[in-house]
Amino acid sequence: MKKRVIILGSTGSVGQNTLDVLEGMADEWELAGLAAFSSHGALAQQANRFKPEAVAMTNEQCASALDDALHSCPRLFTGENALVELVEAVDCDCVVSAVVGAGGLAATIRAAELGRRIALANKEALVIAGSLFVEVVRRSDAEVIPVDSEHSAIFQALHAGRREDVSKVYLTASGGPFRTWSAEAMGRITLEDALCHPTWSMGPKITIDSATMMNKALEIVEARWLFDLHPDRIEVVVHPESIVHSLVEFRDGSVLAQLGTPDMRTPIQYALTYPKRFECPSDRLDFSKMTQLNFQPPDLDRFPALGLGHEVALRGGTAGAVLNAANEAAVEMFRDGEIDFLDIARYSERALTHHEFNGSPTLDDLLAADRWARDEVKRCTTC
Ligand code: MG
Repeated sequence: MKKRVIILGSTGSVGQNTLDVLEGMADEWELAGLAAFSSHGALAQQANRFKPEAVAMTNEQCASALDDALHSCPRLFTGENALVELVEAVDCDCVVSAVVGAGGLAATIRAAELGRRIALANKEALVIAGSLFVEVVRRSDAEVIPVDSEHSAIFQALHAGRREDVSKVYLTASGGPFRTWSAEAMGRITLEDALCHPTWSMGPKITIDSATMMNKALEIVEARWLFDLHPDRIEVVVHPESIVHSLVEFRDGSVLAQLGTPDMRTPIQYALTYPKRFECPSDRLDFSKMTQLNFQPPDLDRFPALGLGHEVALRGGTAGAVLNAANEAAVEMFRDGEIDFLDIARYSERALTHHEFNGSPTLDDLLAADRWARDEVKRCTTC
């Protein structure tokens, strides 16, 4: 029997890479379901090619165009709850959670409740709702395998020792396109500058998050929940080559790293096949061409988002929901030309400072904090 997989967010960068990986493992894996927000053309193309049992589209306006473009008749779920309905209706071995932002949260939590393996690329599930999500996973026997390259590296390196012997986890960061820019030059960053990532090819939201280093801030929070680590044990190290994907230091000073070319297909495939490994279409490292690997501490003054990540990882509660939502809203405004690049971290910090903190929120409290933060950021432009 083939293993079955559902991809939430199949038209995005991780979704497309997952399909690429599945094509290479077609003897062992089959696609059971696909879901996207509104990219009906791309979703129809994927469904026509891979013939899943069901597809889901959140945006109802785009759903009829999707329906028209489908050659076969998979079950079709549409509307705000479509992803949750897909996860409930379609039996599978693994759910790839790759929706960008808060949109994938409910379906990812539902998949955890159903005890599925979750290949987690959607870091927001942990950033927004870390304590709740971890609790659902604990109760349900679900398995969460990180897809984020850094967390996949940590997940792999942790297998080298006992959890109680871990002294530190180092998250590597490429530093983004502005790593060497002066503070003054950073005041004039354009959208085009921010969309140009030096090593990774990703969607626009995460590319801008890499430029502000908010992506690394969210990854600190993600690591805190994923590996149950005290935030003091999580450190960021800038590594421009993006070859060492992260490192774990043990009590005796031994440091274990995972290396590879910057290609998302490797961690995606590993999340599906763990603990097994298979051939992967990603390029191999060529040590004869690798001249040097550089490491340096991050500049917290030029990249204040990093400090926010540590703060949120320490505070827990509603802080993650607020930081994530404020950043999402601010990135959108930056993309629309309404605010400057440096305002993204500024507005996020402001929302974090002004919000009414709740240390043990319910999911409704978290969603309310999310809405409040988005409104607060929009209000900011007038204050
Ligand atoms: Mg990452």
